[in-house]
Amino acid sequence: MALIEYRKKKGDQIWHFCQNCPDYPKEDYDSWCGGTRPPGGKICEECILLEEEDEKDCNPNYCY
Ligand SMILES: [Zn+2]
Repeated sequence: MALIEYRKKKGDQIWHFCQNCPDYPKEDYDSWCGGTRPPGGKICEECILLEEEDEKDCNPNYCY
């Protein structure tokens, strides 16, 4: 199963997993890899919407 990288801006509580999310952190972030949602914090609603519409729109960063 592919693991997805979740990113959370330091000091923030919201995890992002779509690289196309306008708020996807590109620097100064915490990273977490997993096949499920990360423990604690919240998941970005924009990322969830992108994933529901089309995984290509979400474009998650896979961990290997
Ligand atoms: Zn997001």
